[in-house]
Amino acid sequence: MSDCIFCKIISNEIPSKKVYEDEYILAFYDISPQAPTHVVIIPKFHIKSMNEITKEHSNLLGHIHVSIKNIANELGLSEEGYRIVNNCGELGGQTVDHLHFHLLGGRALQWPPG
Ligand code: AMP
Ligand code: ZN
Repeated sequence: MSDCIFCKIISNEIPSKKVYEDEYILAFYDISPQAPTHVVIIPKFHIKSMNEITKEHSNLLGHIHVSIKNIANELGLSEEGYRIVNNCGELGGQTVDHLHFHLLGGRALQWPPG
């Protein structure tokens, strides 16, 4: 989508600090980190949010989550633990309308979230 900042990151129109990339997904450091390690993981095609997910996306979501586990391990988060977050829609706090997952680690995270 032409006005989507994450699509522009995928096409390198907007620079990002990449952590991991393959045919299906891209992971990059969040520009406004909320924890010592804060990575955003996105599919490489435009899909607005979890609300648009169907059974056809099952393999993609599985791949995203296995990749997040691998990224967490690569970044040294596995032993102490980390959090995976998806914000969906207005009340969920979603600010970028391209499906993404946050990987947060490196500090104790509160529960429940704010
Ligand atoms: P959300 O609020 O769940 O929609 O998350 C969107 C995230 O994208 C926020 O944590 C932003 O800091 C992050 N973000 C926005 N623009 C950029 C960018 N150009 N590069 C990296 N992260 C970004
Ligand atoms: Zn997009």
